[in-house]
Amino acid sequence: MAFTLPALPYAPDALEPHIDKQTMEIHHGKHHQAYVDNLNKAIAGTEHEKKSLEELVANAGKISPAVRNNGGGHWNHSFFWELLSAKGGKPSGKLADAINSTFGSLEALQEKVSTAGATRFGSGWAWLIVKDGKLEVTSTPNQDNPLMDVAEVKGTPILGIDVWEHAYYLKYQNKRPDYLKAIWNVINWEKVAANYAAAVK
Ligand code: MN
Repeated sequence: MAFTLPALPYAPDALEPHIDKQTMEIHHGKHHQAYVDNLNKAIAGTEHEKKSLEELVANAGKISPAVRNNGGGHWNHSFFWELLSAKGGKPSGKLADAINSTFGSLEALQEKVSTAGATRFGSGWAWLIVKDGKLEVTSTPNQDNPLMDVAEVKGTPILGIDVWEHAYYLKYQNKRPDYLKAIWNVINWEKVAANYAAAVK
């Protein structure tokens, strides 16, 4: 019943030129795989072995630093791959309405998320979440996420952007803001809209 690495939902070069093939291969095949392997090691033979990933993440602060880091790493990356697509596009429908009424425009939301990512010191994630039925932008350190008991701002993530150096360094080096600008070209808004619909149901 060990956790396994999910396949990428597209080819590793599908997001070129915004996210390069080598970054995707290492990020998915090495980094994400390591989170999966280390999570399995952390729970093997313990009372946590039969728990779902969601349960582990929700109680990560109470369980152990290894489950917090690697359970978070597995959940966050599994979520992230599905949010990317070569198709790009714009939000529509109820999600677009909520973005416009909360932030003023899509551009204002993008600016807020990019700033949250650029100003997160060290490694972490920028998030768009649903909290009490409303959209909110937040960020977390390391592999924490807003579903965790330890999160400063809790909510249901509908979009998350990895701002670890391993997500961008080969192509963008120290220019995290350039990566955060480029990634909007490959956001799968249909998936974000589906996440939003599920979160406000
Ligand atoms: Mn990562």
